[in-house]
Amino acid sequence: MKKRVVIKVGSMAVTDETGGVSLTKIQNLVKELESLKKLGYAPILVSSGAINSGRSFVKKPEEKKMMISFQQAAAAIGQPLLMKAYVDALQSHNSHCAQILVTHEDFKERKRFLNIRNTINRLLENDILPIVNENDTVSYEEITVGDNDQLAVMITEATDAEKLILLTEADGLFNKNPKDPDAKRFDIIDFKDDFSGVKFAAKTSIGRGGMDTKLKAVRKLTPIGVDVIIGTFLIDSPLTRLLEHKGGSLFKGNPERQTSRRKSWLSTVVKNEAWVVVDEGCYLAILKGNTSLLPIGIKKVHGTFKRGDVIQIKHKNKSIAVGISEFDYREMDLIKGKKSTEISSLMASPPSKVAIHKDNLLLKADH
Ligand code: GLU
Repeated sequence: MKKRVVIKVGSMAVTDETGGVSLTKIQNLVKELESLKKLGYAPILVSSGAINSGRSFVKKPEEKKMMISFQQAAAAIGQPLLMKAYVDALQSHNSHCAQILVTHEDFKERKRFLNIRNTINRLLENDILPIVNENDTVSYEEITVGDNDQLAVMITEATDAEKLILLTEADGLFNKNPKDPDAKRFDIIDFKDDFSGVKFAAKTSIGRGGMDTKLKAVRKLTPIGVDVIIGTFLIDSPLTRLLEHKGGSLFKGNPERQTSRRKSWLSTVVKNEAWVVVDEGCYLAILKGNTSLLPIGIKKVHGTFKRGDVIQIKHKNKSIAVGISEFDYREMDLIKGKKSTEISSLMASPPSKVAIHKDNLLLKADH
């Protein structure tokens, strides 16, 4: 079987600074993707750039609250323009691509998840390049993936790819601002923990990600055995160069690949900005394993989430486990610190006595 590799390109890798699709950037990218196929890779592309491709066609709103619909309208215009550029560029290589637009919800629901997986499998079997982006038109706060780095993580897991390459402006991860002459690039980072000691430089102006979201991708994928490579697109043949380790930062995946589909799904579909903080007693109980998370041990609720979302369990700022929440964030806030027997007096028909059931809870590997 060909080696599956997910490649995520940020907006600036495929569009112009002033807005609009960059045909040259896309032609170069496509040329390299074609050469990767000849080297035995099956690339899957996660491409940003819809908003930036379409933004010049929509009046920029003065009110901040209109910003989301502005971006959604821009994406609705920009996405077909972006795809047209990919279709045209691939045509000169006698190749084809397919568009896959998804939201966070699609990965959460098992049936939809399987449909994404099966579609991509069929496309790859037919040598078609899948091009994935978030379905910005229907995304809103609670169902949005958030950024395409996170989307790339979920696609990597869903397709059993062995590597994820995140192309960005900076050539990997540096110990300080890369513009600083003393800055040192992390070259190869062996799998050890959640890289919580690693610091990184700032966000770029276009696109939603930054180094922060890239490190989150590293923290989710390396534990399940996937290599994550971060490197610059501002150089010739960036993908070949990164695959040959001639630059960028390579975060090695756990040598023991996670074989439980459910566990790898739990660790990658988890929402970045949703968690509960637990007290010492609860932390120790979870560490021992085989226990559900009870509302009484919860001290704080952070972010917005729905029943059925995968959230993090934190203790003293460290994420210790992930699991499927039985409550939404408002309900969770209401029942936090309460005994299970008190819940029915706080809520009309509580869906559960536990906050996260032990069958749906996954302890992080470094605990
Ligand atoms: N879906 C957005 C777009 O195509 C990009 C989101 C991101 O860069 O993270 O413009």
